[in-house]
Amino acid sequence: MKEKLLELKENFSKALESTSNTQQLKELENMYLGKKGLLKEILAGIKNLSNEDKKTIWVESNELKVFILKKLEWKSKEIEAQKFEEIVASEALDVTAEFPSKDLGHKHPITTATELLEDIFISLGFKIEDGPEIETDKLNFDMLNIPDNHPARDVWDTFWISDEINEDKELWEKYLLRTHTSPVQIRTMLKEELPIKIIVPGRVFRYEQEDARHTCNFYQLEWLVVGEGVTFGDLKWTLDTAMKSLLWEDTKTRFRPSIFPFTEPSAEVDVSCQICKGTGKIKEKKCSMCSATGWVELLGCGMVHPKVLTGCGIDPEKYSGFAFGMWIDRIAAQRFGVSSSRMFYQSKLKLNEQF
Ligand SMILES: [Zn+2]
Repeated sequence: MKEKLLELKENFSKALESTSNTQQLKELENMYLGKKGLLKEILAGIKNLSNEDKKTIWVESNELKVFILKKLEWKSKEIEAQKFEEIVASEALDVTAEFPSKDLGHKHPITTATELLEDIFISLGFKIEDGPEIETDKLNFDMLNIPDNHPARDVWDTFWISDEINEDKELWEKYLLRTHTSPVQIRTMLKEELPIKIIVPGRVFRYEQEDARHTCNFYQLEWLVVGEGVTFGDLKWTLDTAMKSLLWEDTKTRFRPSIFPFTEPSAEVDVSCQICKGTGKIKEKKCSMCSATGWVELLGCGMVHPKVLTGCGIDPEKYSGFAFGMWIDRIAAQRFGVSSSRMFYQSKLKLNEQF
């Protein structure tokens, strides 16, 4: 019987070596230690032995049982470890691996124009400010000297946030998609110390009839300077310097008197059209960018209205400022020679890939 136990141990050890998964381990355990297993089979003959031998065999068979269980456990751990190593190896990321490069795409012309403008103004000592695209009526209109009954409100056809959100609110607290980046001027004047020298690039929304120069969402860039002794001369100098850097050396500018609720005095600035070089014609056809006038309205500007300053807690007797608002889309169209800024929003790869 002793020999049988030894033989069983040897066979088990051999069988164990050839196992490679947990299923096989289970089968092996059943085969050797199960109710109808090989060990039980050997021990069935124990009743024929003397008491002395019975004792010895019991001890030896128990030792064998413990040996088998330990070996099974050890093998099970080994299989698990191996499985883990395989997963690590197969799922490992080789950060040094090289792949054939794909077309990565590039910046949209409006992004390129925005960054160009930011660089120019940063070099002039301006700081970039940002604000939310959803604003309240108060920040978008009231605090910019455009009260509820002001005729200028008609110019800005506004997208309002859904009635469910706005219905129980007073007009001044109702939400809308900002019609200009000017609310960021208010936010900055309310929180920052003077002097202020900022630019605000961002997306704005208007319920517009679309044509070559108008789209219902577009990008604006505003700039604002507030401090002691700021004059209209400073405004002109900043504009000339920025335009010279931004467009071409031969670009002409002209000021036209205008009216904005938030500036006084106000002006609109046109630049000579780069598309038709100020002639109003492209190959004997009317230039659509400038409506054949040779001039493109690029921005509005003026000295910040005393009421706007007062509303932000700034004394207009002591401080003054100027502000500009310009269309980045039109700048991009002029800069890149595109005849309609609307084309930037039409996902035309053939167009965008050129810049
Ligand atoms: Zn033109």
